[in-house]
Amino acid sequence: MDYDLHAAVPSLEDQITSYLGENPPASRAELCEALGVSRTTLGRAITKLIDAHAVISLKGEEKTGAGRPSTLFTSARSCAYSLGIVISRASFAGVLLNRGGDVLIAQSIPASHPINYLEALDATGALLLERARTRGVITDYVHTIGVGLPVPMGSNVSHSPHSPYPSRESVTDIISRRWKGSILIDTTARLCALSEALWGAGQGYPSILYVRLSNGIGASLVVSYHLSGGDLGFTGELGHMRVPDVHTPCACGKEGCLETLASIPALCAQCDVSSLSELARKVSNRDSRTLSILEHAMDAVGACCANAALLINPRAIIVAGELPEAIPQVSDMLAHGLERELIPAMKWNIDVVRAELGPLAAAQAAAYAATTTASSIKKEHEGTR
Ligand SMILES: [Zn+2]
Repeated sequence: MDYDLHAAVPSLEDQITSYLGENPPASRAELCEALGVSRTTLGRAITKLIDAHAVISLKGEEKTGAGRPSTLFTSARSCAYSLGIVISRASFAGVLLNRGGDVLIAQSIPASHPINYLEALDATGALLLERARTRGVITDYVHTIGVGLPVPMGSNVSHSPHSPYPSRESVTDIISRRWKGSILIDTTARLCALSEALWGAGQGYPSILYVRLSNGIGASLVVSYHLSGGDLGFTGELGHMRVPDVHTPCACGKEGCLETLASIPALCAQCDVSSLSELARKVSNRDSRTLSILEHAMDAVGACCANAALLINPRAIIVAGELPEAIPQVSDMLAHGLERELIPAMKWNIDVVRAELGPLAAAQAAAYAATTTASSIKKEHEGTR
């Protein structure tokens, strides 16, 4: 999917929800005056919001000093409008937001391994419903749902019966058992990148290369405030760029991919350790062989980032994932590799920064993306009438 990061012009419905969030309750006349619209235009938008259970009319209530009784409107603050669930190899995270974008429920649990993606989605959905019930959050009118999975979710991925990846249809089926809204499905890395670009380390940068170093290596691109999934949703497969002189077979079917050198499992295998925490311990003990393997691998990541930089000229590279979380030094190592591969004669100005946000922010970005995408599709349809 593509996401426009420019502050979108809020729709009248967005403006009404926002006004009611700050000035509850308000009459029709107050809303018309504050938002500069006619009663007819306001009426149409209010009807849509009431139908969507995002606004409640308090019929017959009178404001102090008013003449005849007038209907007052207030936002349905505890009614969930959008849902976001993001599955990563480390955690399952879910949020429920109201129409104004306030977080009503946020729940993150450590991932159980091995991960069955459909079971993870189902379990996270069930947990959100349970939390919502105990907190009095209404979940019957969820309109938009954003889902992130840590596997390629492009529209053209081939899913044979033996594929370890779930199909888009099976994801839709499992979500539709509990929720009725429109569903957006994307990769976890892209939704994490979206959250960083909107609210985290990427704020204010027009062009970003987001690199996620984890059990795999993924990336996302923001060019001129536009986060693009490409034609089929396959942008950012940085982990499958080939590294010179590396010939290890990759799960993708090729050999010598960056992932076979610099992913967490590849690093653990080269350093003869069984876990990331053991690897981090060796690094903090300044084990020279471990440091040398890590530097070599991050050099290769930096070189691949440089290739990407030569194409898109990012203003910032955001380094994210479990590897930099456990071993923060990898950002500097990557920056060295990057520097070496950029064209010296050009004055490059690329900030290499660490990601700031966690899985709940990615889940929030999923819900946000589902809502904004659904409303932009609606606007397109209205525009073609
Ligand atoms: Zn590969």
